[in-house]
Amino acid sequence: MMRHYLQIKDQYKDCVLFYRLGDFYEMFFDDAKEVSALLDLTLTGRDCGLEERAPMCGIPFHAADTYIARLVALGKKVAICEQLSDPATSKGMVDRDVVRVVSAGTLIEDELLDERSNNFIACAYKSGEECAVAYTDITTGEFCVSSFSGGNCVSEAGENLVKLSPAEIIVNDEFLLAARDCPVLKYNSLPSFSCYVPWAFTVRRAENSLLEQFQTKTLAPFGIAGKDIAISACGALVEYLRETQKHALKNLDGLKYLNGRKTMMLDSIAIKNLELTKTLYEGKKRGSLLWLLDKTQTGMGARLLTNLILNPLNSREEICFRLDGVEELFNATVIRIGIAETLKGIRDIERIAGKISNNNLTPRDCENLALSLAIVPSLKFQLTGFSSPVLMKIVSELHELSEIRDLLKATIVENAPVAVKDGGFIREGYNKDLDEFRRIRDGGAGMIAEMETRERDATGIKNLKIKYNRVFGYMIEVTNSFKDKVPYHYQRRQTIANAERYVTDELKEVEEKILTSEERSIKLELAIFEDVKSALADNISKLKELAQAIAFLDCLVSFAAVSKERNYCKPQIGPLGGPLKIIDGRHPVVEALSKERFVPNDTTMDGKDTSIMIITGPNMAGKSTYMRQTALIVLMAHLGCFVPAKSAEIPVTDRIFTRVGASDNLILDQSTFMVEMTEVASIILNATPDSLLILDEVGRGTSTFDGLSIAWAVLEHLAQKIKAKTLFATHYHELTELEDKIEGVKNYKVTVKEAAGTVIFLRKIMRGGANKSFGIEVAKLAGVPAEVTARAKEILKKLEKNDIARGAAQTEEIAVSEEEPSLSEIEKILSELDLDNLSPMQAFMVLSDLSEKVKR
Ligand code: ADP
Repeated sequence: MMRHYLQIKDQYKDCVLFYRLGDFYEMFFDDAKEVSALLDLTLTGRDCGLEERAPMCGIPFHAADTYIARLVALGKKVAICEQLSDPATSKGMVDRDVVRVVSAGTLIEDELLDERSNNFIACAYKSGEECAVAYTDITTGEFCVSSFSGGNCVSEAGENLVKLSPAEIIVNDEFLLAARDCPVLKYNSLPSFSCYVPWAFTVRRAENSLLEQFQTKTLAPFGIAGKDIAISACGALVEYLRETQKHALKNLDGLKYLNGRKTMMLDSIAIKNLELTKTLYEGKKRGSLLWLLDKTQTGMGARLLTNLILNPLNSREEICFRLDGVEELFNATVIRIGIAETLKGIRDIERIAGKISNNNLTPRDCENLALSLAIVPSLKFQLTGFSSPVLMKIVSELHELSEIRDLLKATIVENAPVAVKDGGFIREGYNKDLDEFRRIRDGGAGMIAEMETRERDATGIKNLKIKYNRVFGYMIEVTNSFKDKVPYHYQRRQTIANAERYVTDELKEVEEKILTSEERSIKLELAIFEDVKSALADNISKLKELAQAIAFLDCLVSFAAVSKERNYCKPQIGPLGGPLKIIDGRHPVVEALSKERFVPNDTTMDGKDTSIMIITGPNMAGKSTYMRQTALIVLMAHLGCFVPAKSAEIPVTDRIFTRVGASDNLILDQSTFMVEMTEVASIILNATPDSLLILDEVGRGTSTFDGLSIAWAVLEHLAQKIKAKTLFATHYHELTELEDKIEGVKNYKVTVKEAAGTVIFLRKIMRGGANKSFGIEVAKLAGVPAEVTARAKEILKKLEKNDIARGAAQTEEIAVSEEEPSLSEIEKILSELDLDNLSPMQAFMVLSDLSEKVKR
């Protein structure tokens, strides 16, 4: 057995091997040492023909799922080696083999999966200047691939991976090597890459894997014929899954080639900064756009919604197609609420379909499927009054599958169990033999009791008993005092202290019936279940289409419900590069979360008169809220959702770029300024006139003059060369001079009111540049003690009066001085300066003052 263990272990070196021995999974040697430490299990030993005992630890087989889940969460892969022959009937060693390798990307157990999000496994492949990313969720059968070429291919593939956030990633060597120098991959947390065998990526091998998987003659139907890079990535992924899952993965029956698919480009920075699926600082769903828009009733809908939000459309037709459906649902409040109620009753048909293919379907799943299918007709009925093409299309895909539904209803009991092996899930009345077996099994006790009374009467032995024993089965027990009354046809079996035990032919017959009927009934149930499963498997593509239609309907209903509840409006979608005009726009999430009344604002950019808005105003005034609100409104329109505004005209936009505040890359060894400039570089290189740019405080990460110059030059470039619609918030008031110098640049300010030494934020955007920072007032509002803010005011006044020398001298009096006494006057002034808080003008004054002093 140990030899066999070692053979198997050799094939699964990168996995923890769970080796089934009776009621336990055992681990040996290094696996045992490692896992006992990780999971806090007792490490024991076992003689195995070697000099020393082999380290060993084990877990009971029925509790394996939780241990596997913990190991997988720790980044381990677990190979499960089962007993394949029945130990009771096999001679010599029991057959054992690995039946499945469980890893983070190949989980199929309901308890280990989040119903509302996908569990993707991805494969990234690089060859020369080309990359491809293939991914799938084996629980749903979604299978897609994208390819990228050119000098940026690795970072584009990286963006794709970040967006997917897969649970597991396999790669080829070349990709792994290139990933080390790719910032996107370095600074986003992804699971570590594992290299897969090179031959799996060779085009011919990969192509064959795919043809075999899809049972087709060519890859043309999937759009990847001749696309070697994509074929390699997909083929290797299928190969890996077959190798680890050990079965044909029937639900991977097709593939989507995503290149050329109509979606807006959204990079990981924009996804993060606009807080599309989680918040920037806490990483929570609450407070994200997804959280706001998610009123889906099903897991399928929730998973699709994340996908829709991360892949906004970029074709006017497709956006309007969705919007018209949302509008109909928006207007029909009563029906919409009814539909949402109906959707609530529908279970995860998509994952049930996945289980049919993965062969881990349970009777409980069948019951859930039957319940869900029973709801489909009423869902269809509720949609009858609608006429928008998108809803009509959904209706046409809501397959009732009545034969399947009837079959499930006829076969599976109510409150069906999750486990198959104990039987008890096939309905009474479906199969005569089964009913008979069960009757005998259940009637067994009665039959024995009845025989006992009959034998007592016939023999006159008053204390005659029929007993059951595991070794000898049913026996008639007669105490020694009645031995002489035992009839001839009793056959003696066993003698015990004060009694004898007998059997009769009749008893043997009954015993046979009772014992085998249980076994037979379970066997028959399993056979019936197999038939049910194969009927389901024949309908897998219909089931998947039904699941997708329900998921999509769920999302549209969710859009409509949020839009109605929050009083959103239907946006007019303009052509690529057309004018942007939002009247009374609001930030959807700030509005939903804040107790303050949200002050709406307009955004008007026609791309000619105004293509760049320079936005100034004190901190906390609402600049970044305003910019994000514009970006979110544009994005929501591209989802086909209504938007938080009184009215909105939104042009089709190819990409939204953001550069907002310090990002959390800071922790990962890059300076704030470096991060900022990398993001600025990417914007300058990739933005087009049809993009929307959100730039917050560009240049803040460096010294004042540097920062101002960079911000100035970037603005000039954006306005003159790129001409993309840009919102540019800045604390450099000097930039407002650009309005008169460059066409298309307009100044805006977020208004505040000054009253009694404090500021009141009015939150209204108006034309014009702000002329004061109100930094000290804001500091006061933030709780900086009056002592300090008062002193700051004094210093400010002096600075403004160009009275630097005295200001510095006085500061010295108050500050606890740590200076060397030998400093010159100029050195003293310089050491007192707080460059970060000087405006360029003030800095210039300091400089001219110093220069004067030197000259004097
Ligand atoms: P800035 O970028 O100018 O420093 P923010 O955009 O971060 O300011 O806004 C600060 C706070 O003001 C936000 O957290 C939000 O709660 C509130 N706020 C911003 N804009 C509005 C608005 N239009 N109506 C109501 N509250 C707002």
